[in-house]
Amino acid sequence: MTGLRIGHGYDVHRLTEGRRLILGGVEVPYEKGLLGHSDADVLTHAVMDALLGAAALGDIGKLFPDTDAAYAGISSILLLERVAERLREAGYAVVNLDATVLAQAPKLAPYRERMRENLARVLALDISRVSVKATTEEGLGFTGEGLGIAAHAVALLEKIE
Ligand code: MG
Repeated sequence: MTGLRIGHGYDVHRLTEGRRLILGGVEVPYEKGLLGHSDADVLTHAVMDALLGAAALGDIGKLFPDTDAAYAGISSILLLERVAERLREAGYAVVNLDATVLAQAPKLAPYRERMRENLARVLALDISRVSVKATTEEGLGFTGEGLGIAAHAVALLEKIE
């Protein structure tokens, strides 16, 4: 039987004034930011849920409840470090991950490589194993109307016996 495990993560946060926009641990200059209990890094949240899902270890809502003041304003990159620890403890190595951010604005291409670097560093992966993509939804729906930003991620893990 193969030791490979696939996982999917999805997250949404509302855009609002007076917040910083953090995606993949990168502060992206924009007139609005994402609302949330932590830094609301929707990309890193989707990545964590993909990793946890692949290992069937629950989700970030279970690990880091938003009712816990310890996580107020916390960097999601720090939470990703904890997820990486959990995976190691459970005997999993990350093979690769691929994420897509759905945002009408701002343009994310200039920040994509830094997002990949951040995620790869925390997961101790070569950057060639970490993909971050971005797309608009052509003005449609809540991302298209600029009400929020969504992210999808898939991750492949390998059980190290
Ligand atoms: Mg979230």
